[in-house]
Amino acid sequence: MKRSTILIIYTGGTIGMKTDEATGALVPFDFSGIYEEFPSLKRLNVDIEVFTITPPIDSSNVAVENWVYMARIIRDNYARYDGFVILHGTDTMSYSAAALSFMLENLAKPVIFTGSQIPIGILRTDGRENLITAIEIAGARNEDGNPIVPEVALYFQNRLFRGNRTTKHSAEALNAFASFNYQPLADVGVNIQYNSAVIAPYAPDFSDEFRISENLSDDVVVVKLFPGIRPATLRAMLIDSGARGVVLETYGAGNAPTSQWFVDLVKEAVDRGVVVVNVSQCKDGAVQMHLYETGLALQEAGVVSGHVMTVEAAVAKLMYVLGKNLPLSETLDLMRRPLRGEFTL
Ligand code: ASP
Repeated sequence: MKRSTILIIYTGGTIGMKTDEATGALVPFDFSGIYEEFPSLKRLNVDIEVFTITPPIDSSNVAVENWVYMARIIRDNYARYDGFVILHGTDTMSYSAAALSFMLENLAKPVIFTGSQIPIGILRTDGRENLITAIEIAGARNEDGNPIVPEVALYFQNRLFRGNRTTKHSAEALNAFASFNYQPLADVGVNIQYNSAVIAPYAPDFSDEFRISENLSDDVVVVKLFPGIRPATLRAMLIDSGARGVVLETYGAGNAPTSQWFVDLVKEAVDRGVVVVNVSQCKDGAVQMHLYETGLALQEAGVVSGHVMTVEAAVAKLMYVLGKNLPLSETLDLMRRPLRGEFTL
């Protein structure tokens, strides 16, 4: 089978650091010298090229314009490469992977995010394995020559996840990411075991060309409920902020206070055209607003169920959908159904 060509896009983060032999300080690793650093890469059936974003950024500084830049790099190189690996800091990688999953429309090639908890130039690094396996996955094709993972995914510590289903759940462990409500797309041991039943099918409709959506709305707020939240605080976030979209982090299966002031405020926001999406503070399990009176009140107020969506995915999806500036009914329709497998109905 013909060799796959992979573009590595290095954006920054811990993975890109190594120890300076002379000073002992952490300095940036030059990924363009990847073959000299990891000669064993030549044994993979892939040809690699590297695009380095300068200056590299700590992912806590990632903003919407960085996502647009990443999406443009992929668009401009889409025809030349079979797959893409995005090296990214771990702190906001789940947000970026979710954002790109929406922005890359009609994607039919692998876009694999990865990074590391320990710099690549440190002996005990987790970055080497993450990088090499991410490259292998980005280049993997089935007998028909089609990519095995034609979607945005995140590879970390032996597991490949759907990009818009992940959360960074540990600042310490090497398995820093989890996907609480969706099975891994692949488990990596001696072999890479692809779980084809949960991977997006390779079904590119060639009448729908790959394109990127560059318009993201940042008129979004995340409101995390806690017992004792004051009416004025909630009003400031739901109404006075001027937000067009709200990710409401509720309790359990999507529950919230039934006090009149609370329900009235949420209803006021919805009636003003604010899109309020209900996601749970629990990592595992779905929002089911019909289960309890405390959830039903939100449903009746017009709040949209986020189902099992992560906060990261809900923020990214709201930014993407609101960025299309559609009439409210169409916006709500897009929010209510899965667009890239971010939840399953
Ligand atoms: N602060 C770093 C970043 O997210 C942490 C990391 O890469 O692991 O860019």
